[in-house]
Amino acid sequence: MIKTGLGYDIHRLIKGRRFLLGGVEIPFSKGEEGHSDGDALAHAVCDALLGAAALGDIGELFPPSDPAYKDADSMELLRNVFARVKKSGWKPVNLDCVIICEKPKVLPFRDVIRNSLAKTLEVPLDCVFVKGKTAEGLGHTGKGRAVEVLAQCLLEKI
Ligand code: MG
Repeated sequence: MIKTGLGYDIHRLIKGRRFLLGGVEIPFSKGEEGHSDGDALAHAVCDALLGAAALGDIGELFPPSDPAYKDADSMELLRNVFARVKKSGWKPVNLDCVIICEKPKVLPFRDVIRNSLAKTLEVPLDCVFVKGKTAEGLGHTGKGRAVEVLAQCLLEKI
């Protein structure tokens, strides 16, 4: 038996914050605003996994109103989600993600991001892919005010 899951996230990009994607810090003049460390890719992947396993969503499990998650390491949250998914009898088959931001370019960091996610989800590197896109200058994302991420995963019964 297999199940798919879809995750989405958006974070404002502001000065004085780190720009994190899948636990990888991208050198840039701005970073994600957030209660946690703001890693939009980690958050979207969490929601894809949780959705596929029908285990809730990231806002429900790690509420931004809870001081425990202030400046939380989002890859720790992803490890927590992965543990819940495994415990419920599922394992990831593959993960595909789209990162939408005007700047910086994601491509130079693609493989290090893929490695970080593949290691965390205990899958081979070729089971994780990440693509960068711009928003063609349109909307808040296109004006460089936000980063958006879409993530899709496939789970199979252990
Ligand atoms: Mg988020």
